[in-house]
Amino acid sequence: MPFADSHCHLDWFEKPLETIKNAEKEGVNGFFSCATNLGSMKKHLGLFSGEACVKIGLGLHPVDMLRLNEGEIEETLVFLEENASKCHAIGEIGLDYKYAKTQKERDLQETVFARQVGLAVRKKLPVVVHSRRAEKECLEILDFMGAKKVLLHWFTYSLQSIPAAIENGFFMSCGPVIFSSKKDLEAALAIPKELLLLETDCPVAFGGVRSDPVWVKRVAEKLSAQKKEPVEKIGRIAWENYSRLFDKKP
Ligand SMILES: [Zn+2]
Repeated sequence: MPFADSHCHLDWFEKPLETIKNAEKEGVNGFFSCATNLGSMKKHLGLFSGEACVKIGLGLHPVDMLRLNEGEIEETLVFLEENASKCHAIGEIGLDYKYAKTQKERDLQETVFARQVGLAVRKKLPVVVHSRRAEKECLEILDFMGAKKVLLHWFTYSLQSIPAAIENGFFMSCGPVIFSSKKDLEAALAIPKELLLLETDCPVAFGGVRSDPVWVKRVAEKLSAQKKEPVEKIGRIAWENYSRLFDKKP
């Protein structure tokens, strides 16, 4: 049974194609890899367009955008619009109030997020959302823009926000953070199985160790132990949800 890593950054690996091959040997056969800025979008299209096992996300990340001036943001969004037909989803996009401290920065993140969600809706593409300390605002913008196919990634939403996500039919992915955080594990266990995906956000480090797509199996094992269900079953359900979400061929 194959496993899918529904959120990773393969362009951050030194030898991404080797990373993919090694993961495939371990039974991880699906990768949603997402860009975060202009350079990363170009890299994704150049490296992975011919890789059948990789689904590509294009977008401008809320933290990356804070380092750009107005002209650079515009250039990035124009590139995104022109290349949206070559990807499987718009992402990683969203709001991050940990880094956007001033009202001006938060307003900018909201405007750029809404514009990218609008593009996804127009192109009938799913949206892959990053949100930190802004879950209410993210859900409001998604609702306002009419986004239906959504993945709330690195699911650390509070238990109180889960009903709203379920009501909208938004997918939620949980990752290695459940190894160490009881609160996040509790939230992960509250995700209904028809909306559950697994991820690593690799190569982001957890506990000081750089993660890898293979870790997605450890995430499944952790859930399996908690839910008292076979790990293969969790992997299969998450794989089916992954296939349902990223079903659009560029
Ligand atoms: Zn990410």
